[in-house]
Amino acid sequence: MAAKDYYDVLGVGRNATEDEIKDAYRKLVRQYHPDTNKDNPDAEKKMAEINEAYTVLSNKEKRAKYDQFGQVPPEGAGFPGGGYGVNFTDDLGSFADIFDTMFGGGGRSQRPRGQVVYEGADIRTDISITLQEAFSGKTILIDLQRFDKCPECEGTGAAKGTKPETCPDCKGSGQVKRTQQTFLGTFQTVGTCPKCGGSGKVISSPCPKCKGETLIKATHKIEVKIPAGVEDGMRVRLAGQGDSGKNGGRPGDLYVMVHVKSDKIFTREGANIYSQVTISMYEAALGAEITIYTIDGKEKITIKPGTQPGDTMTLRGKGMPYLNSSRRGDHIINFKVTVPKKLSQKEKSLLKQIMGIKEE
Ligand SMILES: [Zn+2]
Ligand SMILES: [Zn+2]
Repeated sequence: MAAKDYYDVLGVGRNATEDEIKDAYRKLVRQYHPDTNKDNPDAEKKMAEINEAYTVLSNKEKRAKYDQFGQVPPEGAGFPGGGYGVNFTDDLGSFADIFDTMFGGGGRSQRPRGQVVYEGADIRTDISITLQEAFSGKTILIDLQRFDKCPECEGTGAAKGTKPETCPDCKGSGQVKRTQQTFLGTFQTVGTCPKCGGSGKVISSPCPKCKGETLIKATHKIEVKIPAGVEDGMRVRLAGQGDSGKNGGRPGDLYVMVHVKSDKIFTREGANIYSQVTISMYEAALGAEITIYTIDGKEKITIKPGTQPGDTMTLRGKGMPYLNSSRRGDHIINFKVTVPKKLSQKEKSLLKQIMGIKEE
């Protein structure tokens, strides 16, 4: 097994000080850490090399031995396996642990040390409401499919009358240490326990309902309150209503995406409502009292004499509600004036008379 030169791996000289080695290592960890290199399949291998090199060069004794013996182990040294490559790639957890130690941890320490905890997934669902419903607010019942804690075993995964037992391999820690003897000394790596998958517990007689998975798919009716004034594309978050977690992990959230359908009469911009009202040229010229639609229902308005096509009228406070407020936007009416296409004989003569008067 050909191994790389540890000094080359860290990019330092043979006379590098402890601090130089540490600095070089930190830089490389940042560069190749698996968390930031999910798309780079070589990063994990590279990280293993870096860790291996650092483990040796950061330790005075090991470094001295390495300097003395070089890369090739002496023949017949009598250590098991004959190789001295140390496998750090078992589990990303080992990198995480190194990373935490070096950079002061944080973020990862929420869970019990070592045990693998699975948080429940968030769920997204879509609903469509009318503008009228967005105006008044609405409580909607949705059928939601999600993973729940199995009711049969109460999420333990163990059959009735039995309990999950502490994993004999990892003694419940969820992690196992592996020790390897090499000519450089003893290496220890830490990885997720393969027997229990990191949960720290094993189930000898699994629950028949969930097959020991602890979660089960179920349908729920969930009440979602859509607030008055909601706009298209807004989402309502229901904390903890997503999939249940595993091994003590928190549940995910439910996100309800709200779509507001377009309306035949009204268009909307934020809290303002717009509508077009068609009036005759006579109403436009003489003024009139007419009935129009607002989001509240029918309403009488008075048109000024001499209203022009494209003129607007603002009905203050007749628009959509602002979210979580009693205030409302405005309703803006845009007037369209129609000219009659067909005139009766009487209308024709009357209009001609008017034109005649005007020409005088
Ligand atoms: Zn169960
Ligand atoms: Zn275990």
